[in-house]
Amino acid sequence: MEDYLVRAMTTNKELRILAASSTNVVAEAQQKHQTTPVATAALGRTITGALLTGSLVKSGDEVVLKIDGDGPAGKIIADANQKGEVRGYIQNPQLDFYKNSQGKLDVARAVGKGQLSITKIMSLKEPYTGSVPLISGEIGEDLTYYFTASEQVPSAVGLGVLVDTDLSVKSAGGFLIQLLPDASEETITLLEKNLAKLNSVSALIEDGLSPEEIIELLVGELDYRVMARKEIKFKCRCSRERSYTLVAGLGKQEIEETLAAEGKIEVRCHFCNESYVFSGQEIKKLLAELDEQEN
Ligand SMILES: [Zn+2]
Repeated sequence: MEDYLVRAMTTNKELRILAASSTNVVAEAQQKHQTTPVATAALGRTITGALLTGSLVKSGDEVVLKIDGDGPAGKIIADANQKGEVRGYIQNPQLDFYKNSQGKLDVARAVGKGQLSITKIMSLKEPYTGSVPLISGEIGEDLTYYFTASEQVPSAVGLGVLVDTDLSVKSAGGFLIQLLPDASEETITLLEKNLAKLNSVSALIEDGLSPEEIIELLVGELDYRVMARKEIKFKCRCSRERSYTLVAGLGKQEIEETLAAEGKIEVRCHFCNESYVFSGQEIKKLLAELDEQEN
């Protein structure tokens, strides 16, 4: 199944619902970062959460979702934009394999206690960051708390990743549902009932359900309208050119020292693990350019 995200609204204008299947995007992240199963689940949930959050901002803006816990996972960061492009990384991709008492990957233990923050990067305004303490470390629950506490929009977020025995990603996806200001008590009760019945989102995706079908399970008998449907993909903005600019910014002394020690300079992108190597010859040319700028 292809990866995509659907943004919908009930026709009574009481609920906004987003749902995404992100199996391929999370699989790509797993391959790029060579993550172990718990790290795959933690990073995959963060990436899917960033995609959902990124779909609520204006075109051209983007969001950075940061999970900063004291557990062995370290920081987990994903950024996404309104076009459905996401990239992300986990500080410790080689986490040990642990399961909780239900036999599921123990993301909460990997994440630990700490903070969740969302930074909105807007084209015409200063960036804005909102943050909340992590309430469970499961990421979906933490994001639910963020929307409710920091943005004052009562919300429910479900995020899930299933990892196969060969470490590959079996399924991944997520949903975000928000109460709009006019939501009635009946709608809230109905939603609570539907949420309680809902299987984990990764299991639904594994069963072959589409984002639209997940939305149907969430809204039940309510009619809804699809506002947008878009492809999502792992896409990094790094390039050889940008890496070169980064090297040039290190300053002559550091460049010379690194070149003397290693005979080349390598820049590795955190977000996608791509490495850009500049040969001794290229670096000498860069140093000559820097000399020229000085004179
Ligand atoms: Zn990159």
